Amino acid sequence: MMTLEEAQARDAADPLRSFRERFALPEGVIYLDGNSLGPLPRATAHAVADLTNRQWGDRLIRSWNEGWIEAPLRIGDKIARLIGAAPGEVAVTDSTSVNLFKLLTAALRASPDRRVVLSEAGNFPTDLHIAEGVVAGIPGAELRVVAREQLAAALDETVAVLMLTHVHYKTAERFDMADWTARAHDAGALALWDLSHSTGAVPVDLNGAGADLAVGCGYKYLNGGPGAPAYLFVAARHQARLANPLSGWMGHAAPFDFADVYAPAPGIRRWLAGTPPMLAMAALETGVDLMLEADPALIAAKSASLFDAFAAIGDSLGLDCVSPREAILRGSHIAFRHPHAWPLSQALIERGVIGDFRAPDVLRLGLTPLYLGFEDIVRAGAILADLLASRRYLDPVYAQRAAVT
Ligand SMILES: *Cc1c(COP(=O)(O)O)cnc(C)c1O
Repeated sequence: MMTLEEAQARDAADPLRSFRERFALPEGVIYLDGNSLGPLPRATAHAVADLTNRQWGDRLIRSWNEGWIEAPLRIGDKIARLIGAAPGEVAVTDSTSVNLFKLLTAALRASPDRRVVLSEAGNFPTDLHIAEGVVAGIPGAELRVVAREQLAAALDETVAVLMLTHVHYKTAERFDMADWTARAHDAGALALWDLSHSTGAVPVDLNGAGADLAVGCGYKYLNGGPGAPAYLFVAARHQARLANPLSGWMGHAAPFDFADVYAPAPGIRRWLAGTPPMLAMAALETGVDLMLEADPALIAAKSASLFDAFAAIGDSLGLDCVSPREAILRGSHIAFRHPHAWPLSQALIERGVIGDFRAPDVLRLGLTPLYLGFEDIVRAGAILADLLASRRYLDPVYAQRAAVT
């Protein structure tokens, strides 16, 4: 197990170290929840103030022609660089949930001889809920949800879309994207990937894997702010044949012709529906720009090392780690199963270690490489060890706390 001195030496030699100062992290907090809500980049306050005071306050409606109208595709092209997509394949728009609705509906409508959306039991709730809503609105369509071990058998000639989350939100298990995309294609289906827990945390290469469709979240590892706009990817080869069911004017070929009849824009722009939320877009773009400054290979390597350091602490405490040990098989958080995971998470927060709980019994700790150091890991581990040894987390005050997130 790493000592405090070893951790400090690792941090001093960490090539990503300077990024920590770019975030406004509060004193006395070890933030292990950046996989749920990324912290505030210092530059974001300035970007939002500029958007508010200068672009909105001073430039008023002229700002639509001074960078606003391009924002969804401009930021999309930046995110494309983080996920192995080409320019013109990614748009920033709506929420992850809404983007799932659009892409699943489009995929089902484009393959009338295939009626099944296949996904994994225990996938992130909104992914399954949205798919349920999509199939309810399409005659004959069906959502098939099976355990991970059953996916291969369930991937048959009835499947239109295989919808998987690349890194599991609870356990951090990671699918081999190239392998599962190839399996979907062998079965004649499209592969749709949810990258919410991947982008900015682990290497993603959509085009390298041959992926068809993808969605992802702006407020986790991209640090885009609470409820940040999300993004979607449509591989160039599918763009002409897939139609956005939310056929709003911002996805029209010529929105400012104010035509009565919808005509989709060529390319990725057709996936926009309404007017982009510019205050939120400014915050997201700042987070994405910051992520683009970091070398993805260093991010992946540090994520793996932070995990190994925490896993060693977990082992020494006898904790049941449910995340895969092998770096290639996991994302950037570590999950422990514990019968008192809920009060333990609350007691940790009270001691300044902010992680979270996922029902029914998982303590989840996000190990985000951009701003966390090895010293954070060792200090958080010491607090966890102290709580477990003293059993103070069993104080009823913690169990009584109501869950909000
Ligand atoms: C966080 C997350 C979402 C979030 O969806 P919203 O529409 O932003 O609420 C969706 N899918 C996965 C896998 C996530 O981790």
